[in-house]
Amino acid sequence: MSYVIHWFRQDLRLKDNPALHDACKSGYPVLLLYTHDENSPYKNGDAHNVWLHHSLLSLKESLDAKNFKLLIMKGSSTEVFKKILSYGKPQSVYYNECYDSYTRDADQRVSYLLEENNIHCHRYHGNVFIDPDHILEDNGSYYTDFLAYWNALNKQCNPKPICSFPKAKPHPYSIPCLDIEDLALLTSYHWKEYFSKYWKAGEASAIKRVREFYKYNAKHYPKDKVYPGTDCSSKLSCHLHFGEVSPWQILEEGNKWIEKSKEKNASKAVECFIKDIATREYSQYMLYHRPEMETSPIRDELNNFPWAENQHYFNAWKQGMTGYPIVDAAMRQLMSMGWCHSRARIIAATFLLQDLKIHWQEGQKWYLKNLFDADIASNAYNWQLMAWNESTTLPYYCAFSPEKESKHHDPKCEYIKRWIPELKNLPVKYMHAPWKAPKEVLKKAGVILDQTYPLPIIDHNVVAKETLKLLHQKTQIKKESVNARELAD
Ligand SMILES: Cc1cc2nc3c(=O)[nH]c(=O)nc-3n(C[C@H](O)[C@H](O)[C@H](O)COP(=O)(O)OP(=O)(O)OC[C@H]3O[C@@H](n4cnc5c(N)ncnc54)[C@H](O)[C@@H]3O)c2cc1C
Repeated sequence: MSYVIHWFRQDLRLKDNPALHDACKSGYPVLLLYTHDENSPYKNGDAHNVWLHHSLLSLKESLDAKNFKLLIMKGSSTEVFKKILSYGKPQSVYYNECYDSYTRDADQRVSYLLEENNIHCHRYHGNVFIDPDHILEDNGSYYTDFLAYWNALNKQCNPKPICSFPKAKPHPYSIPCLDIEDLALLTSYHWKEYFSKYWKAGEASAIKRVREFYKYNAKHYPKDKVYPGTDCSSKLSCHLHFGEVSPWQILEEGNKWIEKSKEKNASKAVECFIKDIATREYSQYMLYHRPEMETSPIRDELNNFPWAENQHYFNAWKQGMTGYPIVDAAMRQLMSMGWCHSRARIIAATFLLQDLKIHWQEGQKWYLKNLFDADIASNAYNWQLMAWNESTTLPYYCAFSPEKESKHHDPKCEYIKRWIPELKNLPVKYMHAPWKAPKEVLKKAGVILDQTYPLPIIDHNVVAKETLKLLHQKTQIKKESVNARELAD
């Protein structure tokens, strides 16, 4: 029987899924496939796997309602396709591209196999605004600066209508299939518990969250997005990572909101938000053009930096027990929600690198293991930025003071109070740096330093200077003018 395959990957949705749409429109019965490769770089993503489990359940439920089955198979994609081919060759295979090197290599092997068997392969860029090969400088090289990329994206990207799931015939296959439970994705008790407390995976929840974000938060987003305590960000990263919603749908909902809303700054707010969505896409773009970004620094000189190995410091950071409340709040939110606010991720990451001098790849691994939105591209790109790889974003000639960052980004300590309850009775003035509080103030607030809350594990004013000195000495990166935010408090 002639049939076609739509291969689900990071596009676990029915709406605005161009590959799925065209597979259904082909006129042939459609087999819907999900392959699970235990060697993929996400295999240690404990939180990621829990979300994947729930996202697959939700997809399966939507498909059941349309009388489609989801063929779930385990193994490398080539092995899986060989097996499927042994049951009967499809006319074509449709899928949306992924941009990490492991998947791209595996896709290449599948391509060869399909080609050898005269099977057409239709590839789409369904999870991004634009194909990363279609957005290049005039000389053909890729953009290495986000703003230049963003301007080009604005010029080149034409609005695209959202496609729906068209009527199609399911392929009545008889290939042995696994259940979602057989993938054993719920191995982490911790993340299994916390998932249901905070999140709901799946296409319907994703679009609901998009609409709620526009309705309640979008107008505050440009001003408040740097304040973790306001909780105004969209929390869409997990939905986007698993492709439960597309960037185009987010843009479309934004345009609808602009039309409906009476906010005079609605267009500006949507633009600001879409620019952040484009940062996600830029990290995929960078990974696509620089696959080595996942494992080695963008700037070669940084290979010479003498990173420290200090398990005690690393554990304190992981547990949110460094004695710097804003850093600890970030890490405790991460370990409670499997997600943490963007600014808090930055503050915690820079503390690990510049204050504890622990290798960015250790932080990268920890985030990958414990984020529901763990994403090879966004994670690697952001850790690279934090580790002085791009001077425009985080200048390598300045070190961020956690105390100043705290005062700046959590002025009323709303965020600290939420995640560090043992400090909640301290006056705001001292909450950013409890070690500076007089004894009687600490006593009144019920805080005993080193007992109820740790003393700082390092002295930022000393170590950050050392780190910058080392950075300049060992990596030969030139010291430029000192940034507006000074080193010490
Ligand atoms: C060290 C570090 C590691 C990170 N690791 C990841 C990761 O593994 N997965 C991940 O999705 N994001 C990662 N980010 C980016 C960012 O922190 C999250 O995307 C954001 O916090 C998600 O919350 P939100 O959906 O409420 O974001 P919002 O502020 O509402 O932003 C909307 C969307 O824009 C995108 N976005 C915003 N900022 C960034 C950014 N800096 N980089 C990439 N995309 C961005 C995300 O898709 C996000 O959902 C990391 C950031 C840092 C500093």
